[in-house]
Order: sequence, then structure tokens, then C-alpha cells
Amino acid sequence: MEKKSTVLISGGIDSCVALYWAIKEGLGPSCLTFTYPEQPQPEKEAIDRICAATNTPRYSIEHPLVLGADIKPLIPDNLFYYATAIAFARNNGIDYVIGGQNKDDWIESNDAPPMFYNQMNNLLNTSYGQDIIQILQPLLYLSKLDVVKLGLSLGAPLEHTWSCQGAGPNPCGICSSCITRTEIAKQMGINL
Ligand SMILES: [Zn+2]
Repeated sequence: MEKKSTVLISGGIDSCVALYWAIKEGLGPSCLTFTYPEQPQPEKEAIDRICAATNTPRYSIEHPLVLGADIKPLIPDNLFYYATAIAFARNNGIDYVIGGQNKDDWIESNDAPPMFYNQMNNLLNTSYGQDIIQILQPLLYLSKLDVVKLGLSLGAPLEHTWSCQGAGPNPCGICSSCITRTEIAKQMGINL
């Protein structure tokens, strides 16, 4: 039977490349996005463009609210995103949840290193049976520069992506994401 996957799409370069990787690998991807109240408009538009460009099914999950607490929206982390995506996938006969974490992410910020996903996959195997559903991280050992190179080789529309941590409407040019993006564009002699 053909495999199905869903790719967590954030509007940035990594998830866009992960989506194109899933298409090339024949993993029948859909796009899974999370919406939240303060989501910047350029990020929403980047997500729209990326999902539309591939003509793949798109699903959105609304950010949860904590009822009864003073704090309004729950600030999710990778555990939340992947657990929620797994629940969605299990309910829809999807074999793989695909993320776009790269090597720079977990080396620089110590956020979700490979062990995190290995442990989640072990838990999935133990709970649901061998290979029923797995998380795939195709970019996990690639630097951001190598992710961009892979994206270009796959024909991913990197110009549709939005990296800035600011609210827009234009990239701020000074946040770490903007700086990295500018450096890579310069290094490769491309427009990003
Ligand atoms: Zn920025």
C-alpha cells in the first residue's frame, strides 16, 4: 500500500524543503499547519504559498487555549507539535509525521536533538507497534546551508518562504533568522 505522510509546515525554509523531500521520496505528503492568534501575516502568507505550490492536501490545527488560566494561549513546544501531529496522523491513516529540524537548530539552541525524536519513535513503537507511525527528520544532520542546497536541487520554492522572527510586513533584517538567511544568500550568490 502507498505510504502517506504529513509535513509540519511553518512557512520557513526547512519545512518547505522537508515537504519537497517527501514528495520526491514518494511519501504522499499533506501539509499540516498550526495557527495561533499572534501569527504574523507574512508567515501565514508564506504557508499559503508553500502549500498551494505543491497542490497537496492541507490541514490546520488551531492553537489551544487554556481555559480557566490567566495565561491565554498555551505556548507550545516541539513535544506539543509532534504529539498533536501524531494524533492527527493516527486518526487519518498517515504513516509518517515529517519535520524540518536541521542540525543548526539543535546544536545552537539545544532544542530537540536527534535523541528527542529517537525517544518519541521508541515510544510510538512501544505503544502502537513496530513501524505503525514514525517521525521522520530528513534534515536533522544538515546545516542550514546544506538545507538550502538540497531545497534548490529539489526545486523547492524557497522564495516563497518567510524566516523573520518579526511581525512583518517586511523582514526586519536584524533578527538571527534574517541574518542567517542573508548570509546564505550571499554565500551562494542567490536571492532568498
Ligand atoms: Zn528578521
